[in-house]
Amino acid sequence: MIAGHFGFAAAVKAKAPRAPLWALMLASVWMDVIFVPLFLAHVETIDVIGGGAPRYGNGIIHADWTHSLVGALVISAAFALVANLFWDRVVALVLGAVVFSHWLLDLPMHHHDMPLLPANAGHLPLLGFGLWSWPLASMLVELALVALGAFLYRRAAVSIAKDDVAAKNRANVSSLVLLASGVATLAFNVAGQ
Ligand SMILES: [Zn+2]
Repeated sequence: MIAGHFGFAAAVKAKAPRAPLWALMLASVWMDVIFVPLFLAHVETIDVIGGGAPRYGNGIIHADWTHSLVGALVISAAFALVANLFWDRVVALVLGAVVFSHWLLDLPMHHHDMPLLPANAGHLPLLGFGLWSWPLASMLVELALVALGAFLYRRAAVSIAKDDVAAKNRANVSSLVLLASGVATLAFNVAGQ
């Protein structure tokens, strides 16, 4: 899931206008960004359910470091600390919280593959409610997040613009771009796997 995380980032932008949208979007997928080099190094892996080609939502993702509860908390705190070098404490905390939102939003989607402790230490019960077993429902949830994010973003930007017509137009265009790029991201995600 990428589009849903981006949608959430746009919704946060509406509530925390001082946080840059690009930084919120990066934060929302940061756990997956760290997953990529670990995946290439075979530290974290993906098993396809039933074998065959990977498709949208049919992976058991062994992201035992990045997507463990404690790992996610550590990654979020580290992100906030680095963000605080560039922005004030409130923005840094918002960004750290958005990093952790990734874990919370992945929780309903993943197929019981999210550990509590890094490297699945202690082999405690794995989490994930498996909505990906119903790809259509998962896509609808992602689309709803994208639509909600674009809607809240537009509403906030229009209210900041007040009577400035040019700023209102910019708000309309940016929210449409957010909506379109979210839908495109989901389409690539569904088609490309
Ligand atoms: Zn993820």
